[in-house]
Amino acid sequence: MSIKAHHLGIGMTSQRTRERLVQRLKEEGITDPRVLEAMRQTPRHIFVEEALASRAYEDTALPIGHGQTISQPYIVARMTELVISDGECHSVLEIGTGCGYQTAILSLFFEKVNTVERISALLDSARRRFAELSLRNIRPRLSDGSEGWTGSAPFDAIVATAAPEEIPEGLLSQLAIGGRLVIPVGRMGHQVLVRVIRESATRYVREDVEKVSFVPMLVGTK
Ligand code: SAH
Repeated sequence: MSIKAHHLGIGMTSQRTRERLVQRLKEEGITDPRVLEAMRQTPRHIFVEEALASRAYEDTALPIGHGQTISQPYIVARMTELVISDGECHSVLEIGTGCGYQTAILSLFFEKVNTVERISALLDSARRRFAELSLRNIRPRLSDGSEGWTGSAPFDAIVATAAPEEIPEGLLSQLAIGGRLVIPVGRMGHQVLVRVIRESATRYVREDVEKVSFVPMLVGTK
């Protein structure tokens, strides 16, 4: 990954600060060395406003405008572990691009990354960041992702970063055989992170992973 010089190890965004985050992720139970390395090399500070850059390597969600947030690094790492641990990694669909941080992490593991966002202003700035970081395997699209991306299905993995109250049927049908869906499900304050593995054309295995707190999955675009 090529990173412009002014984004390299300066001040609060230094290598040492990032190392501290990786250490914290290990303590929280992230074990996959490939995921830890991805978290170490991805410059999270360029995914937030400059005023918040000094907090970019804290393990917390931060506001990105439009009432949305950049996910907590721990949850990004966890969701990535859950989708890459078993099976093919050719294609992934992300629902909820936001600032594009999770997208950037996924682009290090999957050949093709499709990502959809319903707020155009967020998608535009995410596109600029992908270009700046020379991440060329990402296809961003403005759309309501609650029913997936039919034209590009099936996917080896689907990652949702906004929570519906129930898993949309359309997403299950867009999983390849052996595909993994990782999605927060439930109302605000009562959400659980769920992984569904499609074992065959008709057999889906669901596992509840842990309690989480995501913004809701909404309908339509703006
Ligand atoms: N992936 C981001 C997290 C963004 S927060 C990160 O790495 O930090 C979740 C995003 O999902 C918000 O930007 C929100 O606008 C978007 N979203 C909510 N409902 C959606 C829908 N139906 N389709 C597409 N995006 C949606």
